Amino acid sequence: MTSNASPSYQNYIAGRFEPAADGRSFTATNPTTGQPWGSFAHSGKADVGRAVQAATDALRGPWAQLSPSKRGRLLMVWGEKIAANADKIARLESTQNGKLLAEMRAQANVIRDWLYYFGGLADKIEGRVIPLERQSVLNYTLREPLGVVAVIVPWNSPTFLTLMSAAPALAAGNTIVIKPSEVTSASAFELVRLAEEAGIPAGVINVVTGLREAGEALVDHEGVAKIAFTGSEGGGRAIAARAGARLASCTLELGGKSPNIVFADAPVDNAVAGILAGIFAAAGQTCVAGSRAYVHESIYDEVLDRLHQRARAIKLGDPLLADTQMGPAATQAQLQKDITMVERAVAEGAKVLHGGRRAAVPGFEEGFFFEPTILHDMAPDNYIMNEEVFGPVLGIARFHDEEEVLAQANATRYGLAAGVWTRDFRRAHTMARRLQAGTVWINTYRAMAFNSPFGGYKNSGIGRVNGIESIDQFLQTKSVWCEMSEEIQDPFVLKV
Ligand code: NAD
Repeated sequence: MTSNASPSYQNYIAGRFEPAADGRSFTATNPTTGQPWGSFAHSGKADVGRAVQAATDALRGPWAQLSPSKRGRLLMVWGEKIAANADKIARLESTQNGKLLAEMRAQANVIRDWLYYFGGLADKIEGRVIPLERQSVLNYTLREPLGVVAVIVPWNSPTFLTLMSAAPALAAGNTIVIKPSEVTSASAFELVRLAEEAGIPAGVINVVTGLREAGEALVDHEGVAKIAFTGSEGGGRAIAARAGARLASCTLELGGKSPNIVFADAPVDNAVAGILAGIFAAAGQTCVAGSRAYVHESIYDEVLDRLHQRARAIKLGDPLLADTQMGPAATQAQLQKDITMVERAVAEGAKVLHGGRRAAVPGFEEGFFFEPTILHDMAPDNYIMNEEVFGPVLGIARFHDEEEVLAQANATRYGLAAGVWTRDFRRAHTMARRLQAGTVWINTYRAMAFNSPFGGYKNSGIGRVNGIESIDQFLQTKSVWCEMSEEIQDPFVLKV
C-alpha cells in the first residue's frame, strides 16, 4: 500500500500483502469528483484459495490455542485501536462512498462498543448438561466455531457492517476472510493493520478484494463453512443458491423498503425529523432508509409542506466538509438507478414535489449527485413504493385509518424496519406487533445498538446481527454422551 493521492492496495493474506496471483487490478472511483481513486487486487479463485488456506491454518493453530478470554481481550484492544483511528478510516470511506465524513467517523468510533460486547461474550459461550432418562449417562453440549467464515460486505457502511459480522464470528472462535465491496475496499486494510497491532495472530483475519467473481469464489470454496453476507436482495439470492448447492450455511442482511407511519396524534416535529433522517441523512444509502412515508390525512398537507421546506434547504456538496448535509451517490451506476427509477415512477403517475434529477454541485461537476427527492400522493402499486432505490427518494402517501395503513406498510416483499409516530401507546405497541419488520422504531428512527438484534423479515434477510443471538449463528453444537456405569450394554443379551 502507498499513501499518495492514488494509492494501490494488495490483498492481505496470512499477515502479508500480496498482489492478485494473475496480477490483475481494478480501479475505484471518488464519487464526489467522478475521478479514479486507488487500485486494488482483482482477486480470483487462486487468491481466494490462499486466503481460505491461511484462515484454516490460523483456525487450527494460534487462534484455537488462545483461551476464549484472551481472544475476547484482543478483540477489545482492536476496538480501541479502530476508535483511535476513526478519522483516518472515515476519510478513506467518505472518499470512496461519498457519505458524510461525520457519519463514517461516528460509525468507526462506535464500533468499539461492538468489539467490547462480543469480546466480552467470547468467554461466556457455554454448553449445557442435559438430564437424560438414563441417569448413568453424562450428556453435555460443546459449542464450537464453524470454521472459516466469509464476510462479504457492501459499500454504504464498510467498517460498521464488516465488524457487525466479524465481531461475533471471531468471538465465537472462527477465522475470517473479508471481501469488501469493490466500491469501498480501502478501509478494510486499515482494519487489518490495526488488528495486527492489537496482537490478533496472522491468518485470523484476511482480506481479498475484487468484484463479484471474488465473492463467488469465496461462496463456492469448500473450506468456507459459512457466508455472512450483507448487500442487495439480488446478491443475497445468488449467494443463498450457491451456498445451498454445497450445503454451506449463510446469513443474509439485505435491502428494504421501510415505511414511516405518522398518525394524527404524532409529535409532528419529531416525525418530520425522523423521516428526514431516515431518507436523506445518508442520501438514502442505508438499508433501513425510510423510503416510504404514510401520513394521516388530517396532517398530511402540513407534514408534506414541512418536508418540502427541509428538503429544499439540504446542502449538497463535498462529504468531507462539516457543513455538507448530503453527499453524492456512491457510484455512477447508483446515480443512474436513482434517475431511471424516479423516471419510471413518474411515468406511472408519481407527482414530484421536490428533486427528481441529477444535481449540479459547483466545483463537483463530474460528481454523482442526485437531488433529495419527494414523490407525493403515491399510489400503493407505484413501482417505486415496492422496489428499493438505495438513493434519496421518498414516496409519500396519505391514509385514513390504522387497518388501511398497516395493510399498505406490510404490502411489500421486504421487512427490514418500520417507524411508527404516535403518542397513543396502545396503538404504538399494536402496530409494533403487527408490522412485518425485524426492527420497529416508535417515535424514533434509524437507531441501532450492539446489544439489540437487527435483521430482516421476509426478503430482507435471514438471521440476525447484533445482540446475543447473533453469536449463535457462528457456532455449532456438539452433544457428548459419556456412559459412567460399568454395566455392559450388549444388544444381543436379553434382560429379564
Ligand atoms: P451488492 O449485493 O451489490 O454487493 C455486496 C457485496 O457482495 C459486494 O462485496 C459484492 O462484490 C458482493 N457480491 C455481489 N453479488 C455477489 C454474488 N453473486 N456472489 C458473491 N458476492 C457478491 O450490494 P451493494 O450494492 O454493495 O450494497 C447495497 C445493498 O446492500 C442495498 O440493497 C442495501 O439495502 C443492502 N444493505 C443491507 C444491510 C443490512 O444490514 N440489511 C446493510 C447495508 C446495506
